[in-house]
Amino acid sequence: SSAPMPPVMAQGFTQLPEWMYDRGVLSPVAAPRLIRLNEALAAELGLDARWLAGPQGLAMLAGNSMPAGVEPVATAYAGHQFGYYNPALGDGRALLLGDVRDRAGHVREIQLKGAGRTVFSRRGDGRAALGPVLREYLLSESMAALGIPTTRALAAVSTGEKVQRETLLPGAILARVASSHLRVGTFQYVAARRDPAALRQLLDFAIARHDPQALHSPTPALTFLQNVVAAQASLVARWMLVGFIHGVMNTDNMAISGETIDYGPCAFMDEYDPATVFSFIDEHGRYAYTNQPTIALWNLTRLAEALLPLLSDDEDERPVLARQALAEFNTRFHTVYFDGMRAKLGLTAAQEGDEALFAALLETMHQTHADMTGTFRALSHPAMLAGEDTATLPLAFAPWLERWHQRLRQDDARSPEARAQAMRAVNPCYIPRNHLVEAMIRSAVEEGDFTPFETMLTVLAAPYEEQPGCERYALPPGADERVRYTFC
Ligand code: AMP
Ligand code: MG
Ligand code: MG
Repeated sequence: SSAPMPPVMAQGFTQLPEWMYDRGVLSPVAAPRLIRLNEALAAELGLDARWLAGPQGLAMLAGNSMPAGVEPVATAYAGHQFGYYNPALGDGRALLLGDVRDRAGHVREIQLKGAGRTVFSRRGDGRAALGPVLREYLLSESMAALGIPTTRALAAVSTGEKVQRETLLPGAILARVASSHLRVGTFQYVAARRDPAALRQLLDFAIARHDPQALHSPTPALTFLQNVVAAQASLVARWMLVGFIHGVMNTDNMAISGETIDYGPCAFMDEYDPATVFSFIDEHGRYAYTNQPTIALWNLTRLAEALLPLLSDDEDERPVLARQALAEFNTRFHTVYFDGMRAKLGLTAAQEGDEALFAALLETMHQTHADMTGTFRALSHPAMLAGEDTATLPLAFAPWLERWHQRLRQDDARSPEARAQAMRAVNPCYIPRNHLVEAMIRSAVEEGDFTPFETMLTVLAAPYEEQPGCERYALPPGADERVRYTFC
């Protein structure tokens, strides 16, 4: 057999102005060890899994040494963090290795997170701890399996070094994949230079990557803004439908591709409560579950501001166009969200009163402290649809169930079995339960046992299918298992 080939990666980002990136210096780690390689993703990217798992591949994934043809950079961006503008963020602990073309012909970027200090590190150490690396790996792969746009995890590597957080923790590096790592904050960074030619260059780069049709638009900046608004509205609606809370929706953590990015103190909620916040640093609940659409629109307004000079030659028309584009957010969000809710409840065509029906269910769930994922999954059974099951959900659901049954009778004539099957394809059985994620991290960090990580990855890879022997992965936490806070 022929020798496996190292990847040669283009570095598209370096066609942008040189003040937008820095050629990263490598900071080798002591004893890199591969925790996990995502072989299916490697194949999708046309990368040789054998090479990646070998000594040269491991050296690349650890940021220790690069094969010929891989020239990493750290990219600059700005961003609003909890509402406050920071003009100089950037890849403080990330290195963009470069671009590959995947099997479908799309450009995908590979980035190392935790690869050491860069010119953008400020006071940070440029490193990542093992726990957050495993959390991001598991949650991003779970998100992908749920069918929701996201960055992907290509590999996790332990460094053999400790990182100083509140305590000394084992270090790790995540190799992640995105269609691009361009953020709202990237546009803010360039807009702040008041250099329309550079802004135009960034726009052209983003368009070429994400929606080449917009190149032919008479108003490319406007078309681009409209597309990002639509992609983000759809993304956040999909988060809401599965109870995902991002946790740090700063403008530097919002990808213009519409992929979920930067899994920090994020979590899926168990008990339904719209005010849920997990992130320890989010003291005022700015990024609470229910605020996410509002925050997404706030962030997109910052993107619109950055793009303003390119929206029209007519200065007076610019804010008008921006406002029109932003106004589409709510329309799009509601369409995806309400269509999604209909599908979750086994309904097809829209009817007047549907939104009140959804609100009544959520209200009942809130009042009864119902488990969000478990409730929708419980509804996805033929007996529940046929009105024969009166025991699975608490009695408080009875009035709502009656409304739902009435509504179901006005829908198409599918059998309860067929309807239940369709519902189970959109109501996951398995989400990454916080208490299990925390236990998985403890096993890895305290005992070096990665079995729970591997097991959870397997279960979460098929979130809509009940898997024998996996009941505990579908259960909400017990009273003593609840996780109140997540840390990044
Ligand atoms: P985040 O909140 O993780 O999105 O990060 C916000 C900013 O802080 C980004 O510019 C990161 O690159 C930077 N940053 C976060 N953690 C570190 C670290 N340990 N070392 C250096 N920079 C960091
Ligand atoms: Mg940030
Ligand atoms: Mg970030």
